[in-house]
Formats: sequence, C-alpha cells, structure tokens
Amino acid sequence: MAKFKNRFLLLVTAAFSFGAVLIGVTGQTAQAKTKSVKIIKTKKFDTKKFRATKGYIYSSAKLTKKVHNADNYPKTVFYVNKQVTVKKTNGKNAVYYYVQNKSKKVKGYIWRGYMIQIPSKKVVANSESATDNNQVSAEAAEQMMSAGAMSRLIDEAPDMNPSDAILNLSANEYNVYGETLNKAYNIIKTSPSGMFNNHTATIYVENSRLVPYVQQAIEKWNSAMEQTVFKLGTRNNHTLEVKLVNASNSDWDGMYNGQAVYIDASRFLNPRYPTAYLSQQKAAQITPSTYWVGVMTHELGHTLGLDHTGYQSDLMYASSSEGNAVAKYSWKTPVERSSTGLDGTENGGTFTDRDINRAKLAQKLGYW
Ligand SMILES: [Zn+2]
Repeated sequence: MAKFKNRFLLLVTAAFSFGAVLIGVTGQTAQAKTKSVKIIKTKKFDTKKFRATKGYIYSSAKLTKKVHNADNYPKTVFYVNKQVTVKKTNGKNAVYYYVQNKSKKVKGYIWRGYMIQIPSKKVVANSESATDNNQVSAEAAEQMMSAGAMSRLIDEAPDMNPSDAILNLSANEYNVYGETLNKAYNIIKTSPSGMFNNHTATIYVENSRLVPYVQQAIEKWNSAMEQTVFKLGTRNNHTLEVKLVNASNSDWDGMYNGQAVYIDASRFLNPRYPTAYLSQQKAAQITPSTYWVGVMTHELGHTLGLDHTGYQSDLMYASSSEGNAVAKYSWKTPVERSSTGLDGTENGGTFTDRDINRAKLAQKLGYW
C-alpha cells in the first residue's frame, strides 16, 4: 500500500565508507607535551552550549598539556563563553573554545572545529544576539567535521531520527556528508529542482474528487512543519500534480514517481476499500476517507525525499525495505510495532517525531 517507486535509483551509490580512523577511547587522560603556541586574541561572549565530537581538551590556551579526551564525553553539554585565537607552531591561526561541563570538573581548551553548537530553544529576542548567532554559524561553516566525527554523531543519535546536532550542521557539512546522511536516515532527493520554490510546492489536482483529501494532507504537512510546504495551485500554475489513474493491476494505492503523485482509481472509487480487505481489528479503526488522506499525506512525504522506515507508527512506514532507493538496513517485519497495529498512513496520516525530523533534515539537505 502506498508504495513508492522511484526513478532516482541510479543516483544512489554504494560509496558510503567513512574514511577516517576512529580514535581509540582510552578512558584516561593523556598528558603528551607539545610545543607552546602563541595567544593572539581572546574574546568573550554570552554563554552558548556545545557538544564535543572528538579531540583533546587542553589545560591552558598554551596547548601544552592535554587533560581530557573529548571521545570520553560524547553526550556532555559544554558551556562556552570565551574563545582564544592562537598562532600554532606551523604558523597558522586557530580558534579554541574554553569549555566547561556543568559541574566544572571537565574544563579546558578545545579546537572550535570539534564542537557543535546545541541550538537554543529560546527565540532570539533582539538583533544584537541575532547578529552574534549569525557570526558564530558563519565561523562554524569554515570548520568541517571529520567523517569519523560525523559517523559518531549519527551513531549517538536515535536510529532514523536526526538529532538537533544533525539538524544544525553547517551548509558545508550537508554538502559533503549528504550521501552519508541519506543512508543513515533513508532520505534521498526525489523531486526535480523547481518543484519546491522557497520550500513550497504548488499542487494541481486534476480530479475534483481528490481535492478534499489533498487539502487535508496539505494541512497536515504545513502544520507539522510549521511552514507552507504545499499549497493548492491551478492547471496553469503548479509545480506538482496529483492524478487519478487506473492502476488496478499494480500493487500500490498511491505512488510518486518524481513528477506526479498518482492515486489508483479502481481502489479509490471502491467504497469498500480498504476496510473490506483488512482484518476486522484493523478495519474497525479505519474509514476509507481517513485512509485516503493518509495515502495522500504519505505520498507527499515522498516528494520531500523521505523513503520508507520500518517504524510502524511512522507516516513513512512500509512493511518491508524492498523498493527503498536508500536503506540503512533491510527489514521484513516492523523494526518497532505501533500500539494500534496501524501505521501512520492507515491511521489517517499521522506523524511521529521521526517523520518530522527526517523531513527537516531533507530540507536542510536541499531536497525541497
Ligand atoms: Zn511509500
């Protein structure tokens, strides 16, 4: 049901190897001595929260003594309100953050490129701090996380559910690690450029009987993403079409092929579908009308670049990984079952955090 057939299969390559060497986690503090660096500048700012991806923490900005290995603190929140610019022995400048954990027991200086800012939940209230934030992200964009650090970041985050850290990488990092993230979260670009303008697709629905279903699916996406992801257009003004077609011999109810969303007319026009074809237990929880809203919502998810997951509560769940253009792993039974036995599509088009965070990641990757 609601199967996804995608013509972009050939874009997926098998090149997902992480080239970097993982640094061994030793558990003790290292104490190697290195040559001293020259401190050029110190700058203070309002406290921001970060996580460390890797690297050593030094006792002072002279960088002579390593006191902690960040590998041992993958989940620790570090507070940062000071940075120093140093000239290294190779003549290059580098910026180090002074970091400390909440108890202030783990503290010291670490290269800024190893740190990822944890986004603040607060709304930026004034232009002064907005400027400051922009500055930080512009600076962060100059730094590139290593493939090993990216791999660890993915491993630390829940399966198939991009964490805040994954959703707040730099533009450079999305560019370089796009394929890695595709594979880790079953995401792939499915829509041609131009389908989404300013992150909005304009939908023309050829058959008026489909309109109410499409309208509800649009509302569901727009409210879940808190932005206008889809809107209705006209025959002369649209970027995406929804069409009713006869596909009675195929195994799908809805399908997106990179150009249009198709709904199978033989099933859509059959008032006994899908309830008459389901178990009594399932049928009791479904009406054809909510079901078709679910199918529409699911297919629109494919236009954003979301491929299937094995989590049954998800809108983008499928009972098997077969047909996925990109899959972190394969499954033939649910990776995790839903409490109702219904998936997000059958349930009328309901989202989990996983669906929403994957859609946010697809947006960051530029797929819509
Ligand atoms: Zn699908």
